[in-house]
Amino acid sequence: TAKPETCQVKTTCPYCGVGCGVNAIISNDQLIAVSGDKSHPANEGRLCVKGAALHETAGLEGRLLEPQINGETTSWDQAIEHIAQGFRQTIETHGPDSVALYLSGQILTEDYYVANKLMKGFIGSANVDTNSRLCMSSAVAAHKRAFGADLVPGCYEDLELADLLILVGSNTAWAHPVIYQRILAAKKKRPEMKVVVIDPRRTATCDMADLHLSLKPGSDGYLFTGLLSYLADHHTLDISYIAQHTEGFENALRAANSITGNLADTAKLCGLEEQDLHQLYDWFSRTDKVVTLFSQGINQSSSGVDKGNAIINCHLATGKIGKPGAAPFSITGQPNAMGGREVGGLANQLAAHMDFSTPANIELVESFWQAPHMARSEGLKAVDMFQAVSEGKIKAIWIIGTNPVVSMPDADFIRDALERCELVVVSDCMAKTDTTACANVLLPATGWAEKDGTVTNSERMISRQRSFLSAAGNSRHDWQIICAVAQAMGYKQGFSFKTPSEIFAEHAALSGYQNKGQRFFDISGLSELSPKEYNQLEPVRWPLTKGQQNGPLRLFTEGRFNTPSGRARMLPITPQAPLNQVSEEYPLVLNTGRIRDQWHTMTRTAKAARLLNHIDQPYVELSLQDAQHYGISEQDLVEVRSTQGRCLVKAKLSAGQPAGSLFMPIHWTAQFASEARVDSLFTAIKDPISGQPEAKHCPVIIQKV
Ligand code: SF4
Repeated sequence: TAKPETCQVKTTCPYCGVGCGVNAIISNDQLIAVSGDKSHPANEGRLCVKGAALHETAGLEGRLLEPQINGETTSWDQAIEHIAQGFRQTIETHGPDSVALYLSGQILTEDYYVANKLMKGFIGSANVDTNSRLCMSSAVAAHKRAFGADLVPGCYEDLELADLLILVGSNTAWAHPVIYQRILAAKKKRPEMKVVVIDPRRTATCDMADLHLSLKPGSDGYLFTGLLSYLADHHTLDISYIAQHTEGFENALRAANSITGNLADTAKLCGLEEQDLHQLYDWFSRTDKVVTLFSQGINQSSSGVDKGNAIINCHLATGKIGKPGAAPFSITGQPNAMGGREVGGLANQLAAHMDFSTPANIELVESFWQAPHMARSEGLKAVDMFQAVSEGKIKAIWIIGTNPVVSMPDADFIRDALERCELVVVSDCMAKTDTTACANVLLPATGWAEKDGTVTNSERMISRQRSFLSAAGNSRHDWQIICAVAQAMGYKQGFSFKTPSEIFAEHAALSGYQNKGQRFFDISGLSELSPKEYNQLEPVRWPLTKGQQNGPLRLFTEGRFNTPSGRARMLPITPQAPLNQVSEEYPLVLNTGRIRDQWHTMTRTAKAARLLNHIDQPYVELSLQDAQHYGISEQDLVEVRSTQGRCLVKAKLSAGQPAGSLFMPIHWTAQFASEARVDSLFTAIKDPISGQPEAKHCPVIIQKV
């Protein structure tokens, strides 16, 4: 028999925002193994257990392989025509805002680009949002307020160079394991490097912490405004940096002092011992190289934007930004949350980091796209979008690569809204999800191993995700499907792309179009790649203008920001307690998060048996005190109930869980456990600026069943 042909393809992991490089080993059109790509700067050869099991999840079981209309298999031509006609008629009768697209941080930049272009330039509505709204939109808004644009100043290397690393609202060990490994290795080399974890729970990340601050849930804003007051009181501000490179300092300090001007009061507001809080403040004030890594514990809050700005204020006030080992650093959850932001795939964005606030930018994008129906104002953000579906204002919605019936707050409301909607189109690579169950039209999309394009990780690094397996069944790439629908709707000109490299070239060209240095996001240096160069593209950071080979490791090294004055804005922050407070009826606070070995709604990771070895069933974690109070023992079946719904799960007692609060993982769906969809418990409370929903603070009651 002939020896099977084996080859290796470099690609990028499809899970978290670390964006690890992966070597895929292929034999006879099968993915037989993976290894970490040593040449990729994000992971330098490392992979976490999810990434290392990628080849165990690439099989065909569970895949959606044929288009369907109302449960019947159909041809692509019929499915495309059905959608085009449905969208066209809805728009003709009810206007462009009666349709919507809901995308995902899992799809590629090229997919995102054509979806955004179709809605904002051709249909004429900005009703295109994404599940990244649930992940990092508060960080985006905080960046824009402070820096004038959505710019992440640092890089992963800064996490290793820092002398003080503050991890806030992040269980890095489980949610971004390769970043955790990098920090651990750096700390081993330099034991004097201090790590502080700020999290109500004692998580696996605390194992490497010099200090764990188990603060009161939702009190992070107080902690960071308190830090600003402390820095001023102890004369450890960088007065010269403030004077030369910032504006708004006086107001920011006044606001901080009005609530958290005194250490003892701040400690009380945060539920911390005064000496522990002092320890953090003292380290921050004495250390030049400080990185504050923040994630969902900050973003998924009813005041997430303010919390982000409270953190950034402290870095600006001490000049700890734009230097090696010094930055406020937002780490994204999904592999392409940042790529989606780059093309403008959020309802309040336009394209290429421009938004609707500047009429000249709307005209610029309109002229570049030669757009026949240009959207002129923001669309509906995720929570409001599904509300409009429920109210019948949005009559046709196309959901691509995401499972909102599980992941949105008030998840039962989302399911009911979709069940009432006139036309629900769902593109997915998996056949059975809680959301595909609501679809009128189901479109089989290619999966990770088959897709070809680019993603951008949390440190602004664009990497290629390369296709190495044939498309499963009759599946097609998301960008192909979107372009086919656009053409069937009559938009022949703007959607005649034949390859992802053509789309990427247009996206890169738009980023540099009429840019005279006023926009930091500019990758025009990549706009003339030949298909071969695109295919061989090594990981590169943006900005990357014409003539450059790679973008800078850090932004703001010269202290110049993207605001009209060139100065960073310090914001006056009045910290807020979470809007949804406990009551007599619902006295406990429910927090949510990821577990180490599963990804999102488990459609892929649950295929690998070894990933279920870590944790194989949904659970609620509770403190020993609460267990005693409610008469609950380990592994008891319990009901967790809120105003919105109930879950039935097993109890897990934990010394690391503070009294008065519970924790449940986000992953389980009706497919795997009928009553464990944690988001069905949450009320859709959102940050007023970013629209990001609260996912860390839900009042509940627990009882043994
Ligand atoms: Fe994939 Fe994230 Fe794990 Fe890296 S850390 S292998 S990107 S899941």
